Amino acid sequence: MCCYCITHSYCQSIRDYHPLIRAYPAHILRVSDDTVYWKNGATMPLGTSHKATLTPTLTTAELEEWLNNATLRDQIEQPYAALDTILPPKPNDDAGRCRFEPFFEMMYGTSEETVRTNLVPVQWLRGTPDSTRLLFSRVNGAADALQRVSDALARLGAEYRPFLAKPAGTFKWRTIARTNRRSTHSYGIAIDIHLAATDYWQWNHSPEAALRREAIPFKNRIPLAIVRIFEKHGFIWGGRWYHYDTMHFEFRPELVGSE
Ligand SMILES: [Zn+2]
Repeated sequence: MCCYCITHSYCQSIRDYHPLIRAYPAHILRVSDDTVYWKNGATMPLGTSHKATLTPTLTTAELEEWLNNATLRDQIEQPYAALDTILPPKPNDDAGRCRFEPFFEMMYGTSEETVRTNLVPVQWLRGTPDSTRLLFSRVNGAADALQRVSDALARLGAEYRPFLAKPAGTFKWRTIARTNRRSTHSYGIAIDIHLAATDYWQWNHSPEAALRREAIPFKNRIPLAIVRIFEKHGFIWGGRWYHYDTMHFEFRPELVGSE
């Protein structure tokens, strides 16, 4: 019952180790074996784990159904590997695509209007000729994290600039293409970098190929140096997903360590 204890110092250290508390200390009070306790008094079930049913042989349609029914426990059970290299992801290894939407709504807002009240400007590539203003959520320090990412990216050599100038977008209240699930762009915690240098799994994999259970060929042009800067500051990269989206980065500090 250590996770319930808020006075014993040893238990306190265990409690604080939970990735949800470490990542979202302004919101999460404690986490028990089956429940997340919010600082606003709300509770949220972790739910059951469906990890055993997430296999490499699931078709894209079956995986979509799995994602549609994901629990909060599923969300935090995915190991996101922030490697110092870029490897083709293993079949159906999509760490981070699994999201329990009520969890994000509680922190960032349940409507376009409520999310907008938390959007603040980030000066993308400030101090360079490509500097531009982007809107990002201030909640959980996401905008501050993106500003740190941007400042580090601006210090990269000129050869990286084509991937970074004219970013494709941050906040947009929308669902993910061909699904009913809300994109994390809706919460103001995701950014798509330059469109022309991106690769998306649906562009290289036809619905007919999916029905034949053919493997999705991996393609990426985003340099590792860019990916590693985002990951250092708590962003996961869509290029680490089997169903890849290489221009996409989202603030998910429960999955990747921020510094
Ligand atoms: Zn995106």
